[in-house]
Amino acid sequence: MNQEFDVVVAGCGVAGLSAAVSAAEKGLKVAILERATREERGGQSRYTEAYLRMKAMDQVTDDFETHLAENLGPYNDPDLMNEMSTGRDGWSHQARALAITDTEVIANFAEHVPATIKWLQGLGVKFDFLPTQFLTKTQPRLLPVGGGWALVEALAAAAEKIGVTFFYQTTARKLITDDDGVVKGLQAHQQGKGVLRLSGKVVLACGGFEGNPQMLTKYIGPRSVYLRPICKGGFYNRGEGIEMALDIGAAPSGEFGSYHAEPIDPRSGVAEASVFIFPYGILVNKQGKRFVDEAPGTVDAYYERITRQIYEQQEGIAYVILDQRVKSIPNYRLAIRTDQSAIEADSIVALAAKLQMPIEMLSETLTQYNASCKSSSQYDPLNLDGVSTEGIYPPKSNWALPIDQGPYIAYPIISANVFTFGGLKVTPEGQVVNTDGEPMPNLYAAGEVIGMYYTNYTGSTSVLKGLVFGRLAAHHLARSK
Ligand SMILES: Cc1cc2nc3c(=O)[nH]c(=O)nc-3n(C[C@H](O)[C@H](O)[C@H](O)COP(=O)(O)OP(=O)(O)OC[C@H]3O[C@@H](n4cnc5c(N)ncnc54)[C@H](O)[C@@H]3O)c2cc1C
Repeated sequence: MNQEFDVVVAGCGVAGLSAAVSAAEKGLKVAILERATREERGGQSRYTEAYLRMKAMDQVTDDFETHLAENLGPYNDPDLMNEMSTGRDGWSHQARALAITDTEVIANFAEHVPATIKWLQGLGVKFDFLPTQFLTKTQPRLLPVGGGWALVEALAAAAEKIGVTFFYQTTARKLITDDDGVVKGLQAHQQGKGVLRLSGKVVLACGGFEGNPQMLTKYIGPRSVYLRPICKGGFYNRGEGIEMALDIGAAPSGEFGSYHAEPIDPRSGVAEASVFIFPYGILVNKQGKRFVDEAPGTVDAYYERITRQIYEQQEGIAYVILDQRVKSIPNYRLAIRTDQSAIEADSIVALAAKLQMPIEMLSETLTQYNASCKSSSQYDPLNLDGVSTEGIYPPKSNWALPIDQGPYIAYPIISANVFTFGGLKVTPEGQVVNTDGEPMPNLYAAGEVIGMYYTNYTGSTSVLKGLVFGRLAAHHLARSK
């Protein structure tokens, strides 16, 4: 081994930093490996605003556990689910290794959120209920002031102060195991220098595989070519942490064929160039046809499902069509984060030409949609108003006003890949579980490396997952020293 530590952490986002600082606070000698430079450290965490699914500084939302539990994948075996509602000691082999997040993991996650926030406050992070980009919402969201960047900087500063050793431009490649297959350290590659071997117990916190086209194609499919990481940080996450653990027998968890979808403007290179304004217009594909109910409920609860429909369209793209009415919605600009200008035209015919869309089809779509908008007397843009279309498929369930007040406005929208869902199965303490459902000695996971989500992401839990499981892993490590 080149160097010896108690703990070697792969990844310098919120998950890795939370693990590193917590372990160092417990007196452990810690190394943290980061593929990026010091200036670009922080992965996805650096770019997120970090909405947190919390209703108070010390309380998660009422639906935090139930939403996670209700989105554990379709058609789960009822016998195994029943079995898993009892203590894990008596679980069968099948239940122990099932590729879902068990309820004890969810419960421990939720339970440790308030203490984690308090700990971060102690490190100087401030939190508040700030405005979000969702004009309508069902759940409150707490935010760190300064977003994920503030979390990364506060944690990294604490890590530097407490003596954590940072290895920048260093990519974790392989777990080092002994003859019995027990993890003993990490092998990494230092850019420009070569191989580095570090001994110690390992925390894998190096993100999902949103930056790895090969894994995206393998797990999500060839259409993933139409996806793009939502920010530059995502390109660093190439799934090595997940693969190196699977290689030595770790159990998978989470939906490998899926990811968290967010609607973005493909013309923009800024982080999270989101376009959440579609509930107030219509969405059309390249043929100029509607394909989805643009407003089935509040935007925070439905944007992911609608974005998945956009991804399914030809070339994975759609266009939101709006008229001047949108400008009378209070704070409507909050819902448009792209730095690119709207595509505008005085007539639908001219707009179709600018969008290179069949003119007759777009005109026909608008004519039919406008004719289906019957009554607008209850119109209320900031609340579900039930102002819906009649006699058209797909329907539009709220805010269905005609689109007839030019100049007309359009934005292109694709699905961004915010992060991938597939990852590793863990115990409530963040220990990686093997394919026989047993904790793997000396191996932990935190953040996106943990596979937790299926189908419908429980919004605003991913940053918390990193922060909480980083700490849980560190505390378990300290206890088992
Ligand atoms: C724009 C955006 C908006 C988001 N909005 C929200 C939100 O509002 N609320 C929410 O809860 N979640 C949100 N998310 C998701 C959330 O930010 C991430 O899931 C979370 O920050 C992941 O933390 P992490 O530490 O697991 O991964 P990351 O922060 O991505 O950190 C992974 C680190 O590992 C490094 N790395 C990768 N591979 C290796 C390797 N082989 N060796 C060494 N280092 C490696 C990377 O460089 C990076 O530093 C958002 C994400 C983005 C990008």
